[in-house]
Amino acid sequence: MSGKAIRSIVIVGGGTAGWMAAASFAKHLENMNVAVRLIESDQIGTVGVGEATIPPIIDFIRLLGLDENDVIRKTGATFKLGIGYRDWTKPGDFYFHPFGPTGFGIGPISFPAYWLKYWLDGKAARLEEYSIQSMAAAQGRFMRPVHAPNTPLNKITYALHFDASLFARYLRGFAEARGVTRTEGKVRSVELRGADGFIASVTLETGEVVDGDLFIDCSGFRGLLIEDALKTGYDDWTRWLPCDRALAVPCERATPPQSFTQVTARDAGWQWRIPLQHRTGNGHVYCSGFTDDDTARRALLADLEGKPLVEPLALRFTTGIRRKAWNKNCVALGLASGFLEPLESTSIHLIQRGIAMLLKFFPDRDFEQADIDRYNRIFEFEFGRVRDFLLLHYSQTARPGAFWDHCRNLPMTDSLSEKIDLFKSRGRILREDTELFPPGSWLYVMIGQGIRPRGHEATVDTLSDQQIRTSLDDVRAVVRKCTDAMPMHQDFIDRNCRA
Ligand SMILES: Cc1cc2nc3c(=O)[nH]c(=O)nc-3n(C[C@H](O)[C@H](O)[C@H](O)COP(=O)(O)OP(=O)(O)OC[C@H]3O[C@@H](n4cnc5c(N)ncnc54)[C@H](O)[C@@H]3O)c2cc1C
Repeated sequence: MSGKAIRSIVIVGGGTAGWMAAASFAKHLENMNVAVRLIESDQIGTVGVGEATIPPIIDFIRLLGLDENDVIRKTGATFKLGIGYRDWTKPGDFYFHPFGPTGFGIGPISFPAYWLKYWLDGKAARLEEYSIQSMAAAQGRFMRPVHAPNTPLNKITYALHFDASLFARYLRGFAEARGVTRTEGKVRSVELRGADGFIASVTLETGEVVDGDLFIDCSGFRGLLIEDALKTGYDDWTRWLPCDRALAVPCERATPPQSFTQVTARDAGWQWRIPLQHRTGNGHVYCSGFTDDDTARRALLADLEGKPLVEPLALRFTTGIRRKAWNKNCVALGLASGFLEPLESTSIHLIQRGIAMLLKFFPDRDFEQADIDRYNRIFEFEFGRVRDFLLLHYSQTARPGAFWDHCRNLPMTDSLSEKIDLFKSRGRILREDTELFPPGSWLYVMIGQGIRPRGHEATVDTLSDQQIRTSLDDVRAVVRKCTDAMPMHQDFIDRNCRA
């Protein structure tokens, strides 16, 4: 095995994906004597958006051994407790998708199961009122979890909003300090080995030839290695997720930062608002078949909380997945591996998953096909389940308008149909294998988008009315009390991690 060990890794691309990979290899392959080299082109630049994350980013930061407060200070980050959906079911509606668990079970009966019985009978409050993340976000509060047994303060679950370019720069400093070498330059061509079609080297515009054992394609949408060189193929998922353009613009911040991402439905898509310490990120994701760029731009600029800081940046994308994220000796990460629109802030997480799985299936120079196949199957499964979750938001809505009529008639995937049918029957939601979103997330969005189960799980009837009522009242009262004790988000930042 050691005679065939990977000796050199070449990463092409220095956006979020490239530097997350470089930092992870520097840390987690530290004793394997692997040379890591990253090539990036300032002339081409990065996509420059991607500011909202989900809770596993905290594990990523901790596993690298980084000081979380230092990362926050240097990336202008704020905290995120979930996502607030404005106008998604119909104009004027609002619901919240919080991170973390909600309530507690009674014996083997889960909280959602008994809450649902009472809610269907009109006897329980909205789900959000039993979640500390939701209630804290509604009041602009935040704190990290603390040791307070038997209270929801123990389990506060959060992610970050950060400046993605500053995050990449931070990771670059970390990676370079641990021996990763960076080359500024443009890759001109990719050379394949005659015998097996593996990548042998890349050649820069300067004429320098860079060879390696393992190549990581972090070159963005184009997929310089995985597609241009290896012709891997791309599955277009626009039939399920029709948005194909975005405009992004930062603006001045006018109010204290919210501790959640706000996403507002629009005539032909939706708009995000992401608070950072030094500005607010905004963007309009839309479908070019139902609006034009000027109208989308006007809609975006009409709903900013402060003065725009630059001209909106226009981006085009095709939602979908690379047919094999790992092909031969090339692994694609980030936009090169596929793209799912940012409604649930999942792209950076999918980079993180790709890196974690690559470390688990880390090859030697034999590149065992069984490992590669398994990696690709898991990757496709997880991508597919995120696609389903996004499709849920679009397809279950009563919003008026041509675009939303189109969304109501989008074809369903079998896996999503089954999930919705199961939920409609008795409110059951099952998590399969390594799918990203837990049942709680599906529950909030199913209920939020207006799906109403016909009944509840039969075993809930083993609980007495008194048990359910007491438990629901307790959870709500404790959540309220704990939320009231939390500091305001801005105060927490000022005290711990002000940029
Ligand atoms: C509108 C929009 C909003 C988004 N919002 C979020 C969000 O809120 N949360 C989230 O998790 N994700 C979000 N994303 C996704 C996120 O932006 C990306 O996943 C992330 O930035 C990773 O990008 P990347 O590193 O793969 O590619 P890029 O940032 O495009 O980087 C590509 C790199 O490759 C280099 N390169 C390309 N060609 C060459 C060449 N020939 N030679 C040398 N170097 C080359 C470039 O210089 C660059 O360094 C969003 C994406 C879009 C489009």
